[in-house]
Amino acid sequence: MTLNAILSFNVTDRFLRYVTIDTQSDPESDSCPSTAKQKNLGNLLVKELLAIGVADAHIDEYGYVYATIPANTNKANVPVICFCSHMDTSPDCSGENVKPIIHKNYQGQDLVLPDDATQILKMSEHPDLKNQIGNDIITASGTTLLGADNKAGVAEIMDACYHLINHPEIKHGDIRILFTPDEEIGRGVDKVDIKKLGAYAGYTIDGESAGNMENETFSADGLKLIIHGLSAHPGFAKGKMESAIKIAGEIVAKLPLNLSPEGTSGMQGFVHPVGISGHVEEATIDFIIRDFDERKLKEHERVIRDIADEVLKKYPNSSRTIDIKPQYRNMKGVLEKHPQIVEYGMDAIKRAGMDAKLCSIRGGTDGSRLSFMGLPCPNIFAGEHAFHGKQEWVSVQDMQKAVETILHLCMIWEEKA
Ligand SMILES: [Zn+2]
Repeated sequence: MTLNAILSFNVTDRFLRYVTIDTQSDPESDSCPSTAKQKNLGNLLVKELLAIGVADAHIDEYGYVYATIPANTNKANVPVICFCSHMDTSPDCSGENVKPIIHKNYQGQDLVLPDDATQILKMSEHPDLKNQIGNDIITASGTTLLGADNKAGVAEIMDACYHLINHPEIKHGDIRILFTPDEEIGRGVDKVDIKKLGAYAGYTIDGESAGNMENETFSADGLKLIIHGLSAHPGFAKGKMESAIKIAGEIVAKLPLNLSPEGTSGMQGFVHPVGISGHVEEATIDFIIRDFDERKLKEHERVIRDIADEVLKKYPNSSRTIDIKPQYRNMKGVLEKHPQIVEYGMDAIKRAGMDAKLCSIRGGTDGSRLSFMGLPCPNIFAGEHAFHGKQEWVSVQDMQKAVETILHLCMIWEEKA
């Protein structure tokens, strides 16, 4: 069935509505959701789902939105599948008062954002714009992020829900919808009720270029290195003081470029100091450790330990402690046990008229943790680009392709059951 013949997409209107709602998350907050304003979007989504006839849509106390599109097939054995996107936007860039702009029929020109003329989207800096000639590009106005990460995904899933309800000729099993808060601060699935979802497979709709699907994420640890120095009155410190601040500085300066985010790409891992604090007696460096190969995390952690020990040789009265906490793991190992989940995703992308490309993501997704909680969950493109910044963009046509992909996926699961 060619879907675009029967569909009248509403995904753009939805997207423009959702991005004007500020849902920035806050890593400093301990509450869930980390910012109460995320519920403003959650409540709106529930209202819209109820209005299109998704009867069980609701938001829970933590700000998670759950909903079900009941099966419309005679087959009893169609697995329940779940589509998931996150509602929050990154703390790295303001999401307040977002003013989305549609640049119709893009012809490769520079896109100057009106509220800050220094913000210019150039094709040379955004190579994916090459694939968008003739399309309609949506950006923010220059002072905020756009929020396509991940409100493009939210709008696409919402539009797919609308079509599933209004086109009974699209046959499907039970479809579960999940919208999460706080993904950008690494807490997106902390309060997910996996039992309540009761799904066999999940798909996050939070990837970049049209046609891409990601079945592999980093494995990730956090490492805290604490330097214990030796304090002395600065007027009488000669030959005595061992400043933890300076020791920490020496350690950071010795981190190898070929094991850093700015010196690696593709399948290479890194160690990355994300925070440093302290005084003469004690200093703390917080690292994130990343690699696709979980076993290599240990090797990378050893590099930090070895550098610290090497530096500390010069400071006989100082020492260090290291504390490592696992953060998330590469979902590939889980997905390989259920190969049809990725296979059907690739089929759906092809049926929607694109070249399907399987990729790895140099980061984590809600899906990497969901996969280890019992819901295998690769990531499908949402069309979002240059996220977490003022030049973030998405195209109308890519969002429509994502809606089609979601609908084809629902049909494929039904067809193959
Ligand atoms: Zn995202």
